Amino acid sequence: MAASAAIATSKEGPEVMLELVGLRKYFSFGRRVVLKAVDDVSFTVRRGEVFGLVGESGCGKTTVGRTIVGLYKPTGGKIIFGGEDTSALRGAALKRFKRRVQMIFQDPYASLNPRMTVGDIIGEAIDIHGLASSRKERLERIHELLRVVGLNAEHAVRFPHEFSGGQRQRIGIARALAVDPEFLVADEPISALDVSVQAQIVNLLSRLQRERNLTYIFIAHDLSMVRHLSDNVGVMYLGHLVEKASSEDLYKNPLHPYTKGLLSAIPIPDPRLERERQRIILQGEVFSPINPPPGCRFRSRCKYAMKVCSEKEPVLKEVAPGHWLACYLEM
Ligand code: SF4
Repeated sequence: MAASAAIATSKEGPEVMLELVGLRKYFSFGRRVVLKAVDDVSFTVRRGEVFGLVGESGCGKTTVGRTIVGLYKPTGGKIIFGGEDTSALRGAALKRFKRRVQMIFQDPYASLNPRMTVGDIIGEAIDIHGLASSRKERLERIHELLRVVGLNAEHAVRFPHEFSGGQRQRIGIARALAVDPEFLVADEPISALDVSVQAQIVNLLSRLQRERNLTYIFIAHDLSMVRHLSDNVGVMYLGHLVEKASSEDLYKNPLHPYTKGLLSAIPIPDPRLERERQRIILQGEVFSPINPPPGCRFRSRCKYAMKVCSEKEPVLKEVAPGHWLACYLEM
């Protein structure tokens, strides 16, 4: 998505808003069992960019999102936001970070408190950050946010169960926007919705991104969902980033066998082409993220696996300008 002209730019492009440096998030169960949900993940997101983070369920993409917004504490590595290491933020600086970075959750049913009215769900964030000086201003702000996401001011007095899935996701988006954030982590915001409303929510997020000059990480399990929204895409497999490129480059020229498999699962709208094309079916057992074996974590499903693939883990390298890959095939 093209960044607006208002964005501060340098010779390399807009400023870097977020930088992950070797991010790790492990979960321990007892003394010996360690689940390596996110293992040495690095990428940057520039202001005004939409960065799509894609991979199958359990690949660690949601954990990356939750760790960025501070719901999980990193096990290692750094999260640098606006030039500051977020682990060092305290007091007012931490509160400011929490206002600048918001999350939209996957499940619009579970993420809204059923006992609160929509007005109070949205108003809670306004109260925490002291963004309204009177009850009237608070209410006006809530009504305006509801209108921005395509709902009505009258919806403020109703409860979440009175809404459809798509409307609840709109309420979740209004809640995230209540504090005027600059950066949104959207965690599979459409996967729990009917296909008929998925496009509406994608269009809403796209419009908001343009109008408010927002920066997104858009998390999805399916490459088709991020295709039209993302500027750059990172593909994750079992806690690792295995490929990263501009959206256009990744769709035209996927290099990692896993990315090729994910792309092959997207149906082509032309029935003739769809009938003729060869699908890549990803077969084989997926390694457990608990103490995974050495080497490439995808090798149990990769038809190109070589001796070296089981000996040493491939590291992410830039194999063409802006195109990063962790695979021995291109090295
Ligand atoms: Fe396949 Fe080896 Fe590449 Fe892994 S490193 S994706 S096993 S070829």
